[in-house]
Formats: sequence, structure tokens, C-alpha cells
Amino acid sequence: MRIVVLTGGIGGARFLLGVRAYAREVGAEVTAVVNVGDDLLLHGLKVCPDLDSVMYTLGGGADPERGWGRVGETWTVKSELAAYGAEPAWFGLGDKDIATHLVRTTMLNAGYPLSAVTAALATRWEPGLTLLPATDDRLETHVVVDGDQGQRAIHFQEWWVRYRADIPTHRFVFVGADTAKPAPGVLEAVGSADVVLIAPSNPVVSIAPILAVPGLRDAVTDGPAPVVGVSPIIGGAPVRGMADRCLAVLGVECSAAGVGGLYGGRSAGGLLDGWLVAPEDEGTLVPDASVRSAPLRMIDEAATAAMVRAALELV
Ligand code: GDP
Ligand code: CA
Repeated sequence: MRIVVLTGGIGGARFLLGVRAYAREVGAEVTAVVNVGDDLLLHGLKVCPDLDSVMYTLGGGADPERGWGRVGETWTVKSELAAYGAEPAWFGLGDKDIATHLVRTTMLNAGYPLSAVTAALATRWEPGLTLLPATDDRLETHVVVDGDQGQRAIHFQEWWVRYRADIPTHRFVFVGADTAKPAPGVLEAVGSADVVLIAPSNPVVSIAPILAVPGLRDAVTDGPAPVVGVSPIIGGAPVRGMADRCLAVLGVECSAAGVGGLYGGRSAGGLLDGWLVAPEDEGTLVPDASVRSAPLRMIDEAATAAMVRAALELV
């Protein structure tokens, strides 16, 4: 059995722990197609927050409290940069984390594509599944906000980390999406999958930028594999994070029904054959998709593997 998962960072990484546990049980192969819209250059270093969250979490090196970055992290470089007044001061890079970005940036500068760099980094972390960036091309999520002279666009990370997604916001733009190509292996994985899972990741800034890569959405919707999404919203609230603020920008209700409707039922031109919601959201309807409920709090690997089983039972 082949499972493809479309995923963002922290929420997606936790979900993948359950997918991997399930896959080990049944002997399935897993490919994660990871959002790159959050990626940025900082102090000359290429940082890929979602790829790193997934890689560190699956490799046992993530900080479980903070949710991002490395466990046992130190912050010497950050305070030295602050002593120089180096901007941006609002984004914290840990010392251990910086080693990852140094290796990645060196390889990218030597001409390796991000997918090859990701594979090379993964040889250390042994995530137990194939990690693919959605694209090797530059695709960055920018956010159009109010500025002093009309509107201005800022990088997603500035909106998210510096402003806590709490400034007047008009829309999201996936810069570079028009000309991006799916990374090598992505279309093949989707085309030969037995099922495509949409992780309970942020639909607006984690899943949408993946689907914005030309050809990728069509490969999912026109492919042979059934598609099942898992709701990131439980009882009208994101379990953690600020997905509510992202949905509000789109005018989509922060609910399992709202996100299900945003993805849409597949036979009505949307994505979903199945939509898994929490027991709190039983009765949710998505036209042209089957909906069922199961506990969706990713409290540990076993609970998350049970979520995956429930998702697969939908199709
Ligand atoms: P990011 O890229 O680091 O922001 O992470 P993702 O986009 O992959 O995931 C963030 C989303 O995960 C949040 O918007 C939450 O709604 C969702 N989430 C976090 N924890 C849980 C959980 O235990 N269960 C479910 N169903 N969703 C969760
Ligand atoms: Ca992210």
C-alpha cells in the first residue's frame, strides 16, 4: 500500500508520526509532500520551517514543548546577532538549527535542488518515510496587509511571527506559484498512491500553497487514489496555532464544516472523497464527500495512528 500525505509543519509532523506508526503495522510506504511556502532566507541562510518540523519530529530531534526547532537548543548565535542589531530580530534561529540551514544553503549554492538537499539531510534523521518538498522552485507565501501608503505585501513569516497574524489583512499570494513545477517524485507518488491524505494542517497557508503548484492539484483530483482530509479544526477552534485568523482572511468559518467546504467534495470539483471530523463536529456535512467522526486530538502516536485508520476506513 502506498500513502501520500500533503502536509505543513507542526500539525502535519505530528500527524505523520501516526501515519508512520500505521504504515509500519501494515507494511505501507509513505511519501510526505511538504509545504515550502513558509521558506525564507535569513542572514543568508535558507530556512525551510515545515520541512524541518517534519524532519526533526520524525527523527526524534524536535522540541516537543515549543513544537518547532530542536530539543536541547541553545541561542548563542541569536544573541550575538542581536548584539549587532542585525535584523530581523523577530525570527529566532537556534544554534543546532543553524547547522541544518548551513548544510542546506551550502548544498543549494552548489546547485543541488531542494528535493536532493532534503533527501541528504534526511539520511541523518531517518524519518522512515520519503520527504519531498512540494516544489524545488521558489514559492513563497506573502500576505497583503494595510501599510502607511495603501496596501503592502510582507513575507508570511513576518505576518505570522512578528505580527502574530493580528493586523488588518487582505489576502495571501503564493509568489512564484505560476511558474513552479512539482518537485521530482511528487507527481509519480500521487499518481501511484493508493490513498492521498490531507494532514490536519493549516488549510490556508500549509495545504493551499502545496496545491498552488501547477499540476499538483490536478494530479490529486484526477488521480486514481481516493483523497481523505483530516480536520485541523475541532469544535470550532484550531487545536493550537492561528488557523482561525487565516480562515477569517478568506471569509471561511473556523469549523470542520468551513474547512471541509473550502476543500470541497471531489465529485463537485473539490478535493475530498472523505472528510474526517472530531466527535464534537459530528453531523458536519460536505457536499459530495463522505464524512465520519473519530477522536482527532493527536495526544500520542497510538491515538494518531487510530486517526489514520479511521481516515482510511472512510474510503
Ligand atoms: P505549521 O505549518 O507548523 O503551522 O503546522 P501545520 O499547518 O502542519 O498544522 C497546524 C494546524 O494543526 C493547526 O492549524 C491546528 O489546527 C492543527 N492541529 C494541531 N494540533 C492538532 C490536533 O491535535 N488535532 C487536530 N485535528 N489538528 C491539530
Ligand atoms: Ca508552516
